[in-house]
Amino acid sequence: MDCLFCRIINNEIPSTKVYENDKVCAFNDINPKAPVHILVIHKEHTANIDETTEMNSHIFSDIFLAVKEIAELKNLSEYGYRVIINNGNAAGQEVFHTHIHILGGKKNLGPMLQ
Ligand code: 5GP
Ligand code: ZN
Repeated sequence: MDCLFCRIINNEIPSTKVYENDKVCAFNDINPKAPVHILVIHKEHTANIDETTEMNSHIFSDIFLAVKEIAELKNLSEYGYRVIINNGNAAGQEVFHTHIHILGGKKNLGPMLQ
């Protein structure tokens, strides 16, 4: 399978990794929408929430435990931060490997939808 984020996990495509453990990795978004814009992905490939099952739902607990770690590492809780999942075409999902966006690093991130 030719998946951009699987290739980033395998270091076949360069990225600025900010966090990694045996289950997830996180790296700076190439086109940041906030002073801090980090993508968190699981090393197990699924396309998006639509592929969640009882067998793989650990993907989300693993990702959100990493979000908490990253928020601490980057001091994001001082102002607060936003997490976003774009799921499917209507949401503009571009990369079909489950990922969450962490946006932060400023006092006001603006409205949720514009
Ligand atoms: P989506 O729209 O699927 O929720 O978000 C995909 C995100 O991946 C976008 O914010 C886009 O800027 C980011 N992205 C796309 N290609 C690359 C890449 O090669 N490297 C990095 N670091 N981010 C990427
Ligand atoms: Zn993948």
